[in-house]
Amino acid sequence: MSAVAVVGAGPVGLAAALAAHALGLDPVLLEARPRTAARPGSRAIFVHRATLDHLDRVSPGLGESVFAQGLVWRTKRTLWAGRQVHVRTYAPTAAVPFTSLPQTAVEDLLLRACDAAGIRSVWGDPVQEVHSTPAGVRLRTEGGAVHDAGHVIAADGARSRVRAQAGIALQGDTSTTEFVVLDVAADVRSDDAERVFHYRHPGAGGRNVLLVPFRGGWRVDVQCRAGDDARDLVARAPEWLPRVLPQAPDPRITWSSVYRFQQRVADRFTDAHRRVLLAGEAAHLLPPFGARGMNSGIGDAVAAARAVRAGSVDHYARSRRAAAEANVRAAGAALDHLLATGAGRRCLQWAAATASPVWPRAGHWLDTAPYGPRIRAVGY
Ligand SMILES: Cc1cc2nc3c(=O)[nH]c(=O)nc-3n(C[C@H](O)[C@H](O)[C@H](O)COP(=O)(O)OP(=O)(O)OC[C@H]3O[C@@H](n4cnc5c(N)ncnc54)[C@H](O)[C@@H]3O)c2cc1C
Repeated sequence: MSAVAVVGAGPVGLAAALAAHALGLDPVLLEARPRTAARPGSRAIFVHRATLDHLDRVSPGLGESVFAQGLVWRTKRTLWAGRQVHVRTYAPTAAVPFTSLPQTAVEDLLLRACDAAGIRSVWGDPVQEVHSTPAGVRLRTEGGAVHDAGHVIAADGARSRVRAQAGIALQGDTSTTEFVVLDVAADVRSDDAERVFHYRHPGAGGRNVLLVPFRGGWRVDVQCRAGDDARDLVARAPEWLPRVLPQAPDPRITWSSVYRFQQRVADRFTDAHRRVLLAGEAAHLLPPFGARGMNSGIGDAVAAARAVRAGSVDHYARSRRAAAEANVRAAGAALDHLLATGAGRRCLQWAAATASPVWPRAGHWLDTAPYGPRIRAVGY
């Protein structure tokens, strides 16, 4: 019997396995996908400093490796209908609080660290049944294998089988507004990389557009308007993309997707016997704006391993659920700002854009509001 079984080898499961190993818990990692199956898309590209620090603690040098592979943008710029309302460039000497690279690259580095640590892993066999008792958990896979463990860290993503088997529901909302996301391949250099947010981009039919550089390309998020057909917007991307991303005049789209803002949290982060701990997207669904999903999930992973080691599962369940709820509130504030459904908020945004040349704080507010309030206090 293992002290801990980690279900799911996404970024959260890999981090949980490393954290458990660092605490001497000898984890086993169980993943549904075959090990060689490639995962598409950039997805979580913003790796926060707190996450890099977590990774360095669970595997010395890992955070530094992630940082070294990523790209740092030092300028953030916001425009309103094509006119600049805010710009800030951080000095090259300033400490940088993040790095930007595709989630797949982060996962590769985490997996290599798991291999180097000798962590046992089983791939290509989904966990199907979860039977928790006061003494431990028995997992049965689709292939018929049985794994007994003292505790299970469930990091099996948004459609978590473990969560369903534990009888835990997700509560919350999904926005009706759709967002189109595209990855565009490009050789972006840190020196000239900028994060740019456009309110009412004239080249995108007045839609809000976020451009974020990462190692290997650009991430383009477009907020659909009422009545838009998001799939049609994706299909017509070769026509509008050069107007939105002049940095890549001959754009090669490597991935596209359509998503909605999700703000959902599990009722409970542990089961009745305190043997199953939910982490990452198995426990909460958060929108990309604000980069809370993977970053807070890795925070969960590290806290879950510590809770198993210390026998403080209840504390884990309470504190990480509180963190997830704070993240959901922050995401809700970001969404309200992006949608600007009320006339009052639209007036406020317009007034801020008008005042920004003479009142820089108004431009600063327009720059930060799309991501919601900072929530470092809750530990990401
Ligand atoms: C289109 C899109 C864009 C995104 N953009 C961003 C972004 O910009 N910023 C951001 O922070 N986040 C973003 N995210 C979210 C980010 O990808 C997630 O927060 C992150 O992947 C969560 O990691 P996780 O390990 O919890 O779950 P996952 O990455 O989903 O990993 C779960 C793992 O569990 C495995 N699994 C599932 N079921 C079983 C089972 N029964 N048995 C064993 N294994 C199982 C899966 O195969 C998978 O490998 C985006 C997501 C999507 C889909």
